[in-house]
Amino acid sequence: MVEVGTLLNIFYHILIMDNKEFYEFKKQLKFLSKIRGRHTELVSVYIPAGYEISKVAAQIKDEQGTATNIKSKGTRKNVLSALERVMQHLRLYKNTPPNGLIIFSGNISEDEGNPKIELYTLNPPEPISVRIYRCDQQFVLDPLLEMIEDKRVFGLIIVERGEASIGLLRGKKVELLKHLTSRVPGKFRAGGQSSVRFARLREIAADDFKDTVGETANEIFLAQPNLEGILIGGGGYTKYEFEEGEYLHHELRKKILGVADTAYTELFGLNELVDKSAGILENLDITKEKDIVTKFLKELIKDDSLAAYGEKEVRKYLEAGAVDTLLLSEGLNKNRIKIKCGSCGNQTEKTETDEELFKLEQQISSIQCENCGNLSLNIEEKVDLLEELADLAQEGSTKVEVISTETEEGSQLLRAFGGIAAIVRYRL
Ligand SMILES: [Zn+2]
Repeated sequence: MVEVGTLLNIFYHILIMDNKEFYEFKKQLKFLSKIRGRHTELVSVYIPAGYEISKVAAQIKDEQGTATNIKSKGTRKNVLSALERVMQHLRLYKNTPPNGLIIFSGNISEDEGNPKIELYTLNPPEPISVRIYRCDQQFVLDPLLEMIEDKRVFGLIIVERGEASIGLLRGKKVELLKHLTSRVPGKFRAGGQSSVRFARLREIAADDFKDTVGETANEIFLAQPNLEGILIGGGGYTKYEFEEGEYLHHELRKKILGVADTAYTELFGLNELVDKSAGILENLDITKEKDIVTKFLKELIKDDSLAAYGEKEVRKYLEAGAVDTLLLSEGLNKNRIKIKCGSCGNQTEKTETDEELFKLEQQISSIQCENCGNLSLNIEEKVDLLEELADLAQEGSTKVEVISTETEEGSQLLRAFGGIAAIVRYRL
């Protein structure tokens, strides 16, 4: 099971993408990941596209029978209610939706004697391939979490004098797509040829081979719209010749991230290349973060600066839909809360640290409403400030960048600018 903390990181990471549907999906996942059953009473049902709904309904019916044997009266009642909700929901479908059907149901109430049976369905961004029925203390989310994992693509080339392997790294998966061998003549000389002439022929053949490797790699890599970079490996000097020469398409040459020494070829060698380049791949994120903060700092000192910072100012720009890039520090540990008066309905919003929020929760019953003076204030909603601002950004099609505090630039963003900054489209 993925930790909620990890999930948050994945969530914020992918927030950077613009796709609204994808964003919604992740938001739902995050919400579901926080739900814990008091007992084993949360039902997860996954149905791949094309699977017969009636078969699933028959299985749920069986499970209803089994559930009648649950000893604890409360749990039994909750599981049966959850299964009944699932059955009702299944009746809405003749066929599974194109990406499959996912249903979660169960008691989400934290109050033992006061159950609240809810049902959630998700529309996954990719087709699901697993069929799952499970009743547990948590909803089964792993197959969906895989969908939002790192999906970056890197090109991989191992090039030796007589052999080359070309593949891709997608997320964490390494694929070998092409293995090439050259017809470079071996070191022993064919009878009757002078050694000088033979060496020359070997050179030409080796060069032809690098051309072939380049052409093959171009074909594969140029077809990848999201190719982030290229890693080159090999045991000998050929990899450097390949890196420096004009074998790859000029657009691809710009994407070369590094060259590593490797001992193997084919899939094993490609994996070795990825392992040896771990530092390079890690640095990519850090470099990107540094670049964004630096861009903001440069903007800040310009005469007609398009930089804004601090929660209040940035919020103003976000509400106007005028933010191009929003920078949020990962270290921003604050909450956005909505307070509502039960008497007059007056609503206020404020930002509080965890400690301030804790204090407020203790004291809220003794705080007067600033509108009517009654003691009936309630905390209606509390959300992570980072999340709330990112949500606001999504409405204005703003790019959201979550910046770690691991770099000097990143900690400066938190220290000097309160962890909230923006590059705006125009001044208000
Ligand atoms: Zn009031």
